[in-house]
Amino acid sequence: MRPAVEQYLSSPGSHTVHPPKSRQFRGEYSGKFARLAGLLLALVAGVCSSKPALAQVVIAQISDTHICDSTHAPHAATNLNAAVQMINRRVVDAVIVSGDIGEGQSCWLQAKSILANLKAPVHYVPGNHDVHTLDVSTYRSVFGADYYRFTVKFVDIIVVDSQLLGNYTNYSATSPPPLPTYTQAQSAQMLNWMNSIVTQEKSAIGAGHVPIAVQHIPVARDYGFPPDTKPYWIISDPYRTREMNALHALGVKTVLVGHWHSAKIFEWGEITWRDGPSTSWLPWGGTLGFAVHTISPSGAVDTEFVDLPNAVP
Ligand SMILES: [Zn+2]
Ligand SMILES: [Zn+2]
Repeated sequence: MRPAVEQYLSSPGSHTVHPPKSRQFRGEYSGKFARLAGLLLALVAGVCSSKPALAQVVIAQISDTHICDSTHAPHAATNLNAAVQMINRRVVDAVIVSGDIGEGQSCWLQAKSILANLKAPVHYVPGNHDVHTLDVSTYRSVFGADYYRFTVKFVDIIVVDSQLLGNYTNYSATSPPPLPTYTQAQSAQMLNWMNSIVTQEKSAIGAGHVPIAVQHIPVARDYGFPPDTKPYWIISDPYRTREMNALHALGVKTVLVGHWHSAKIFEWGEITWRDGPSTSWLPWGGTLGFAVHTISPSGAVDTEFVDLPNAVP
C-alpha cells in the first residue's frame, strides 16, 4: 500500500507588499499642500493594507478533460490546449485537474504533455474514468498519490479520491452498487488518513490557513441537477456520511468538484460545492470552459467560470 503523500509546495503564510513606510519631502510646501499630500498617502496606504495584491490565492480548475474520448469529445486535446494558453495569460498560483483526465494510460500521458505547458504547478485528482474499483494502483503508478494534502501560500488543499467512496463502474445502476473488498479497504484507509490529519489541519487553521477539498464526484445533487436520479452522479451512503464527517472535522467549507461537466455552485451539508465546467464535452448542455477560484484569508472564495471561445466538444 502506498501511503498518502503530503506535499508542501510553498512555505505557509501569506506575503504582503507594502509601499515604502516613509517618504522624505524636501523643499518648502505650503501647509495646505502638505495636508493634501498626507491625506493622499494615507488613502494609498489604506487601500494597500486592506487589499494587498498577494494576500489571495488564485487556483485555476480544469476538469473532465477526457482525452481520447473520440465519441463524445473529438476536440478534447485542442480544447485542453486552448485552456492551458488562456490560463497562462492569467496570474494563478496553481492549477488543479479535477478528474476524468483521459480514457487510458496513453491518454493520460497525452494530457500530461499538454498540461506540462502550464506556467503554474499542476496537481491531479482522479475521476471515475481514471480510477475504477480495482485499478487505483495503475493511476498511482502514473500520477502518484490519489489522495494527499498540499499547501499553496495560506490555502491547504485536501485531495480526495471519490472513486474510493462508491462504485461507479456501472453507469446504469439504479441503486448504489457495493464496493469490492479491496476497494472497501482502500476506502477505509483514505478515510483514516483524512481523520488522521484533523489535528494538524486544526492548528494550521489556527495559524490562518484555509482548508479546501477537491474531489471528482459531488456528494449530492444540486437540488434536481443533474436531472437524472441514478447513483452514478453523486456519492451515496454510507460513504457520503463518512466523508462529510471527515470534511466537517477538517473545517472544510469549500469543495471543488467536477463529474457533471457543468458550472455550478450550491450549498449542501454546510459546505459550498463548486463544480468546474468540462473542457471536453457537455452531457447536460452549457458551455465548455474552466474555473478560476480566488481565495481570501477569511476563507471567502470567488469563482469565475471562464468559457473557451468557439470551442466545440
Ligand atoms: Zn467526466
Ligand atoms: Zn466523472
